[in-house]
Amino acid sequence: MVQRKGEGSRGEAPERARGLRERAKKVIEKLRELYPDARLELEFDNAFQLLIEAILAAQESDKKVNELRKELFKKYKGPEDFVRVPLDELERDISSINFYRRKAKLIKKCCEALIKEFGGEIPRSVEEMVKLPGVGRKTANMVLGGAFGLPAIIVDRHVLRVSQRIGFTKEKDPDKVEFELMDIVPKEHWTTFSFLLLNHGKNVCTAKNPRCEECPICELCESCKVRL
Ligand code: SF4
Repeated sequence: MVQRKGEGSRGEAPERARGLRERAKKVIEKLRELYPDARLELEFDNAFQLLIEAILAAQESDKKVNELRKELFKKYKGPEDFVRVPLDELERDISSINFYRRKAKLIKKCCEALIKEFGGEIPRSVEEMVKLPGVGRKTANMVLGGAFGLPAIIVDRHVLRVSQRIGFTKEKDPDKVEFELMDIVPKEHWTTFSFLLLNHGKNVCTAKNPRCEECPICELCESCKVRL
């Protein structure tokens, strides 16, 4: 379907798309009051560290990755160090992390490609970043938004769930959700919006028991239990 100017990516009537955009702005305003310092929970000193941490954080808690990072980056300063180290040594160094064997292989491949394709520098576009092994759009956006402050919609499980509940998307595929949200949220707010929903999904709109009774965006949410 050809998308006409003013329509959403799903081809909604312009009015619905307009309504969603208005709602997105209000959601951002309300959540900003609740999370004035919204940011990633992963701690990092530079984009390379965040890239490695994002790979480690797949199916693992940010807390566990944060616990490991100091020791890890004392030893591994850049991609060359991860390439040089024998695989079994890297596995031992990250063995506190879920799926460490698989992740050790991915990290080595990712660092090899980073050196070969980009001279060891983290590229600044999603299209380039996803060429790196182990890097999907979520990780790419996390690094671009989190480390470089570039506009990036980061669709992790929290952003996905909260977006669906609010009614911003019916899609389940994170990449499709990302493109829908890009259409609804003003570009200058993409990264902030992602951090806000991420925080809200962790703290209030949790997977099992969303606390709608204390949620400041209940009026803007299609799934608010208090109103239904
Ligand atoms: S109203 Fe309920 S379902 Fe909607 S965002 Fe808030 S906590 Fe989640």
